[in-house]
Amino acid sequence: MIKNKVLHSNIKAKRLIQILWAVEFVLFLSSIQKIYAGEYFHTFLITLTNISLVLVYVLAKQQKVQFAATFALSIMTIFATFFMWSHGGIYDPILLAYPCILIVASMVGNKSLFITLIVFMGLSVLLNTLSNYQGWYINEIDTNYIDSSITTLLIISLVSYISWMVYSDFHVLWNQLFDEHIQALASKRKIEKLIHHDILTGLPNRMMAHSIFKKSISKEHIKQTKVCLMFIDIDNFKQVNDGLGHKAGDELLKELSNRLSNEMQGEDFLCRFAGDEFVIILQSAKDEEIISQIALNIIKAIRAPFRYQNNELFCTCSIGISVFPNDGDDFDALIQNADTAMYHSKSIGGNSFHFFNTYMDRQGHNYIAVVTDLRNALKEGEFELYFQPQIDLLTQKIIGAEALIRWNHPKKGLIFPDSFIPQAEKSGLIVEIGEWVLQSACTSCKSFIELGFSEFSIAVNVSSQQLKRNNFAQTVHSALKNSNLPAKHLELEMTESLLIDNSVELKQTVTYLSDLGVSFSIDDFGTGYSNLSYLQEFEIEVLKIDRTFVKDIEHNPKNKALVTAIIQMAKGLSLRTVAEGVESEEVANLLKALQCDSGQGYHWSKVIPEKEFINLSTSNIASFTRNNPKSLLN
Ligand code: C2E
Ligand code: CA
Ligand code: CA
Repeated sequence: MIKNKVLHSNIKAKRLIQILWAVEFVLFLSSIQKIYAGEYFHTFLITLTNISLVLVYVLAKQQKVQFAATFALSIMTIFATFFMWSHGGIYDPILLAYPCILIVASMVGNKSLFITLIVFMGLSVLLNTLSNYQGWYINEIDTNYIDSSITTLLIISLVSYISWMVYSDFHVLWNQLFDEHIQALASKRKIEKLIHHDILTGLPNRMMAHSIFKKSISKEHIKQTKVCLMFIDIDNFKQVNDGLGHKAGDELLKELSNRLSNEMQGEDFLCRFAGDEFVIILQSAKDEEIISQIALNIIKAIRAPFRYQNNELFCTCSIGISVFPNDGDDFDALIQNADTAMYHSKSIGGNSFHFFNTYMDRQGHNYIAVVTDLRNALKEGEFELYFQPQIDLLTQKIIGAEALIRWNHPKKGLIFPDSFIPQAEKSGLIVEIGEWVLQSACTSCKSFIELGFSEFSIAVNVSSQQLKRNNFAQTVHSALKNSNLPAKHLELEMTESLLIDNSVELKQTVTYLSDLGVSFSIDDFGTGYSNLSYLQEFEIEVLKIDRTFVKDIEHNPKNKALVTAIIQMAKGLSLRTVAEGVESEEVANLLKALQCDSGQGYHWSKVIPEKEFINLSTSNIASFTRNNPKSLLN
């Protein structure tokens, strides 16, 4: 605003100076004309006016524009008025100077100056007319035509010059205005697009979905067809985003939105609702069968592999479907119900779709209730650590244990982690729960060591959210310090997806803790990514072969080949191997033959409370033999 004012004032000063030069030039010519006509008094007056205008020039140069303009226009008006009165009155050509002065006033003066001048000029003309009419003062009509025509021509030239100036200013202003108008229109279009579209994928957003839905249901009343809302959530998006970084996450979202777009037909509408959530409005959904087919096509499209750098990723999605008007009569209600149905798909492992039903509605509120309950459980100390021994396959001795959390719910009894860890992760509570697990696991391990398990290590599961916290290293350090447990007895289990992210911070955390003596293992190995370069980049010591490969190793040659390859690769990289989910002696023996280092599973022990674990471990370790494998269980 201030900048504009300064600019405006500069232009005014420039114009005033240009006009002054023009006026002075005209006055100069006029003074020569007067000398020629022998009118020396008038020559003197014109010269005086010209000299005064030089003063105005100085003022304008000093940016005192308003003052200079008032001064200049007043002198010019007085000059013109004097000449009018002293010559031909209202018939004198000098009267042409009045409009010229008014044009200049409108350009460089202000409103009050303009009004003052117009009033003065009007009064002057009226008074002159009245004087001549009443005979109080009679003007002599100039009969010197040459003199009059020169004055007229000079004034016309001056007016033309000033008008040309007005025109060019107006022209510039007009062009500017036009450009600004075009820009404003473009910005408006851009803003409208931004308001209604998602920048990353270019898809319409939630807001647009809302208005499209409104239009569809108004049409629906006419056509009497159903409108269907599909809520799509990518199951393992967080893993990719946390594991490979936001860039990979963005690329994945773009790719997925393209795949979803390809599935759209006719008036179907796709939007990115939020994060990894998409919503589809099917405007011409005739029956459940067609809707189901569309959902299946979407599931298939999402499941296709996605390549990012050297990684091949696989995504699945969970879909929830609600139909207007059966499942709600406004957008929010339908979205909420589709979301509930989506959670239902997720709760059975994802990669599926469900239509909403009212039974789900009751379950839909489950998440909030669980999170509230979890928060309370932390406060009330309802969590308990259970342990599952890890056995050296060669010596059959317990060499460690995995700490696994349980929730002793006052009303619901014992709850297993699969039923609350996802909610704890989603709500962020996993960080506090994880701290509790670390602290308790270290304390228990210390007490095991004091009981005589000297070469014993405790394995603690760590979720990505915990590890990515800035203070994770500090948390581990404090847990070790508080429990007085030497770091070499602690092993942290992470999933592969977590380590795909080779961020500097993560590397620093792992290096810092490794230097301290903490070891790291890869949990559920084999279920994650195909690129194994992270094994060399991070200080990993143990691979835990996922139980899905171990379970039927004796009957499934594919799994056997896979487990063999994992063990051999681990040997090559000097990593230890732990086979998870060992449920039978045959499997244990086969693993031993394949040179797997250790095992964990129901064959030796279920996941048991601390007291039971101590009893099991302090009893004859030799009981874990081929002949009597389960004698120490329960
Ligand atoms: P996980 O880390 O893969 O833990 C092993 C799971 O396999 C345990 O389930 C255990 O009960 C089960 N298991 C052990 N041996 C056998 C067997 O021979 N056969 C079969 N079929 N299953 C066996 P659990 O305790 O229910 O834990 C489930 C998952 O919950 C864990 O999987 C882990 O990912 C997570 N979890 C458990 N405790 C914690 C924790 O303190 N923090 C975090 N972040 N996650 C945890
Ligand atoms: Ca684990
Ligand atoms: Ca595992």
